[in-house]
Amino acid sequence: MTDKIDNEDLLTCEHCGKSFPGTEPHYAFSDGPWLCEEHAPSLSDAIAQHEQFLAYGENDPVDFDYETREDMEAALADMKADLDANGDRKLVWADEVAA
Ligand SMILES: [Zn+2]
Repeated sequence: MTDKIDNEDLLTCEHCGKSFPGTEPHYAFSDGPWLCEEHAPSLSDAIAQHEQFLAYGENDPVDFDYETREDMEAALADMKADLDANGDRKLVWADEVAA
């Protein structure tokens, strides 16, 4: 994500209600809600979520921002390789401050 935002825009953690600037590490869902670093999912959480989703055949991958199940399976394989290579970590990033 490289969305540029104004520093004054505060995000709100959906889990704990904390407000924080987008320039702090956080997790963002594609359709809006945010999670602070403390409540962000980890890479292993995302892998488990993808595996559960793919194991249950009736889901629509579009809900996860994938066009096809094959795209989602490829992303899952990438995440597993990442976990093996780099270990588990929180899935967070910080927005750039608009110039
Ligand atoms: Zn939180």
